Amino acid sequence: MSRPVASYLAPAASGPVGVDLPVPGRALAIGAHPDDIDFGCGGTLAKWAAGGCAVTELVLTDGSKGTWDPEADRDRLVALRQQEQRAAAAALGATDVVFLGHTDGELGSGLAEREEVCRVIRQARPDVVLGHDPWKRYRLHPDHRHAGFLAVEGIVAARDPHFFPGQGLAPHRPSALLLWEADEVDHLEDIEAFLPAKLAALFAHRSQWESTMGIADDPGAEEAAFETRVRERAAEAGAVAGLALAEAFKRIDRL
Ligand SMILES: [Zn+2]
Repeated sequence: MSRPVASYLAPAASGPVGVDLPVPGRALAIGAHPDDIDFGCGGTLAKWAAGGCAVTELVLTDGSKGTWDPEADRDRLVALRQQEQRAAAAALGATDVVFLGHTDGELGSGLAEREEVCRVIRQARPDVVLGHDPWKRYRLHPDHRHAGFLAVEGIVAARDPHFFPGQGLAPHRPSALLLWEADEVDHLEDIEAFLPAKLAALFAHRSQWESTMGIADDPGAEEAAFETRVRERAAEAGAVAGLALAEAFKRIDRL
């Protein structure tokens, strides 16, 4: 049967690109659902963690719609997806995972959610934030759009002492924001040595093998096919800068 094409099939760069930020001291990746961070920037996080970066992952929703089984037990699925995300984070070498637990499919990007993200940014104090590109055209899933805006607007709030002063936390201004699924790619991270870590993180999401990765009827062959698709996508992303394997981003560094 045909299976959905997931978000790892993003467009490659069409113009000049920068390559490789210096390894940051601290990084914060913000994803809508369990597995989004691994698809979007898993190789980059693994590389930075190996270089001594303290990596925090922030997952905004509970992933409770991540199944094709209409009879699935919601609470069990939520607990399973947290467990899978922690295993995926460990595969990348991330040090911390924070779950905000908003209902999957119902994420908003209002002031209440912005304050939550601002709080995590002020606590984690990342040099680099990574997230979904909220300006990606023709994107259907509202959680991805809202998660992107929360990363952007969470930074704006976190850097300014007059936003949410009741938090009692010092303001914090990151030095760069990298957006995956970018509408306009202008930055690549070389992940040639870290594709195995990215794949290990993705495969940790066992509950998503069927619905997201197309692994169900013939696991051996379908796992290999999924791995090939991820590798081909990374090769395509890297080709514009002569890199064997890369992850592609929009980089914003005037924060
Ligand atoms: Zn997602």
